[in-house]
Amino acid sequence: MTVETLLPVAVMGCSGRMGQMLVRAVQENEGVKLCGVTERPGHPWIGQDYGTATGGAPVGVTVTDDPLPVFAEARAVLDFTSPEATVAHSVLAAQARLVHVIGTTGLAAEHLEKIAAAARHATVVRAGNMSLGVNLLTVLTRKVAAALDTDFDIEIVEMHHHHKVDAPSGTALMLGEAAAAGRGVHLDEVADRGRDGITGARETGHIGFAALRGGDVVGEHEVIFAGAGERLVLKHIASDRMLFARGALKAAIWGQGKKPGEYTMLDVLGLE
Ligand code: NAD
Repeated sequence: MTVETLLPVAVMGCSGRMGQMLVRAVQENEGVKLCGVTERPGHPWIGQDYGTATGGAPVGVTVTDDPLPVFAEARAVLDFTSPEATVAHSVLAAQARLVHVIGTTGLAAEHLEKIAAAARHATVVRAGNMSLGVNLLTVLTRKVAAALDTDFDIEIVEMHHHHKVDAPSGTALMLGEAAAAGRGVHLDEVADRGRDGITGARETGHIGFAALRGGDVVGEHEVIFAGAGERLVLKHIASDRMLFARGALKAAIWGQGKKPGEYTMLDVLGLE
């Protein structure tokens, strides 16, 4: 493959925990090339070569806080940043009609509405978790929830590193939505997101969430179906962030030539 035929991919938030993994995933893939990297205005890496900024050899790509020229050159943008940044990027993605892979979590209803509007022109792949294992886990969760009645209480427990800013995790919510879908209900109506004090007894049919934070845990999720005299526990452990980065890049490649719209990793992995 010549350099001209390589798929140009850009990484938003390139200094972040995931940003650096995404750049590595792009550099390690022979079918794609890194065409741009961004950071937030005021970040110390702005204006530096990405390689130099990370303490290595120059890679010929300068870190910028202006996403516009980057979107003009890219065919896919990998975005694991913040909800506000992701919404701003989605407008540019719609203008450039490219593949916008969104890993950012903590998106509220107003952010999701704007992303849905952008997806009229952009091909958006959005998932709270880009790993094969977790996406399989959502399929299993939906099936088990459909098979068991509300005598089984569903609780979702997650643990992440101490830097994480949102709770429950995007993955925990994805699993909650899968469980709710299996039961034919809306998660919003049955979610118990955090208990403290005299909460009263657990309500039948509710789906509970508990978030643990500590150390450098990459991501652990457990879906517990607790019945009388038995408990079924489905668990996923992520031990390396590269897993999510490779999943995101797979989505970027899969999305090429797909019609504008909103897709998930279940579509990318053929699990839907
Ligand atoms: P992080 O704080 O290490 O990285 C975020 C980066 O985005 C930072 O470097 C920040 O400066 C940058 N940023 C913020 N605003 C920006 C802007 N306007 N333009 C460009 N860059 C900007 O966080 P992280 O641990 O890498 O996680 C990032 C997001 O990805 C979080 O929402 C996290 O929950 C999510 N995440 C998703 C998955 C998944 O598989 N979907 C996996 C891991 C993390």
